[in-house]
Amino acid sequence: MKITNDFHGTQTTIRATLGRPLTAGQVIRARRALCPVSGCSCGGNLGERGPQSVRIEIIGALACGAPEIVIAPHE
Ligand SMILES: [Zn+2]
Repeated sequence: MKITNDFHGTQTTIRATLGRPLTAGQVIRARRALCPVSGCSCGGNLGERGPQSVRIEIIGALACGAPEIVIAPHE
């Protein structure tokens, strides 16, 4: 799934199974790719900004403190 940030003009592809939570590594890599500016908080939990082709849903928190995220299709 392609996730974009229309503020930085960045995009990243996440290989996730629909309905399965992302790993902490996937969350961190996506944030770094989409919003590479340290201290910037332009994006959402994945660093995304602007309309997305998928729904990014927070379902909890991982042990490391990162949000637990599921990518789902738009309804
Ligand atoms: Zn940013």
